[in-house]
Amino acid sequence: MSQAIGGASSLTLLWPVTCKAKGRTSPNSKVKTVKLVGLEKEKLKQKDGGFGETKKKEPLWQCVQDCGACCKLSKGPTFATPEEIFDNPSDIELYTSMVGADGWCIHFDKSTRSCSIYEDRPYFCRVEPNIFENLYGITNRKFNKEACSFCKDTIKAIYGADSEELDRFNKAIRS
Ligand code: SF4
Ligand code: SF4
Repeated sequence: MSQAIGGASSLTLLWPVTCKAKGRTSPNSKVKTVKLVGLEKEKLKQKDGGFGETKKKEPLWQCVQDCGACCKLSKGPTFATPEEIFDNPSDIELYTSMVGADGWCIHFDKSTRSCSIYEDRPYFCRVEPNIFENLYGITNRKFNKEACSFCKDTIKAIYGADSEELDRFNKAIRS
């Protein structure tokens, strides 16, 4: 997994999984339920296959070049604070020490959108199933889906929902 990052952009994911937006609930739970039921039926159809139906290919997470959205460490109030992310005080200290005045990581080279300490970056910058599981309780089975989802959330938050960066990411994971 780390090869995917290094090979693409030399950037790593500094925990977009912390996006609190994932925990938001719809004020209209009935509407939400109907939508979910519809979604499940659609999934079942895909699973069953049948004449004329094709299975949808699951997007495969990968880091993309010229992004770096996850290296903005201070992403705003919808994202968790280091205190909410980490149990270990030394992780909180390290994370906090990396936040520059503009919210971007001090090791992020904006001109190239790359990590200047890539080989030595902290463990929590690495997009790897075991780190997701140990730190955030996301199982290996769910890793791909969650990594895709949280990259999308992060890119939207940093570059916008209509951004070229999000478009590139979506195309890459579906290719
Ligand atoms: S947000 Fe995702 S795609 Fe963008 S640099 Fe980070 S890991 Fe790569
Ligand atoms: S050390 Fe900074 S620039 Fe490097 S991957 Fe982590 S957050 Fe990004």
